[in-house]
Amino acid sequence: MLVLDASSFIGGFNPQFADFEQYTVPEVLDEVKTRRAKFVLDVSILSGKVKVLSPEDEYVEIVKREARNTGDLWKLDATDIKLLALALKLKRERNVEPIIVSDDYAIQNVARRLSVDFTPVAYSGIKEEIQWRLYCPFCKRQYPSDYSGNICPECGGELKRKVAWKKRINKQKDD
Ligand SMILES: [Zn+2]
Repeated sequence: MLVLDASSFIGGFNPQFADFEQYTVPEVLDEVKTRRAKFVLDVSILSGKVKVLSPEDEYVEIVKREARNTGDLWKLDATDIKLLALALKLKRERNVEPIIVSDDYAIQNVARRLSVDFTPVAYSGIKEEIQWRLYCPFCKRQYPSDYSGNICPECGGELKRKVAWKKRINKQKDD
């Protein structure tokens, strides 16, 4: 069972390739803002691959107490605390071992304290690299994939985005 932080989506994690039950908290939806990561998150939720769940206050309080003990409380925002609380809830109520996927050191530190496993996004073993191509369907000009506008400066047409190539990156956890 995986519990996904906003950093996992921003870091390129794609739940579609992960053969686990996957969860996140509603607050993560507000933190994922880049177009690609947001798209991956939306599709994952709509397809039921990622379930959105809120932990009860009792778990939030336990996380706050432990984070205060480790000195990490000031580094965690409300979303981080909810995410840790959700992992704790799943672990206790369903008696399973969830793994938090996050690149945030404070989250990792408190997770360790709560005896919840975690993995940085790069070591999750499921990362997809997509190279986009941005082009104008009218005048056929191409633009860099990070070009910020969506209107062709040459002819005023609306730019389209398509996948130039896609590669699955598998990394082994080596610690
Ligand atoms: Zn054009």
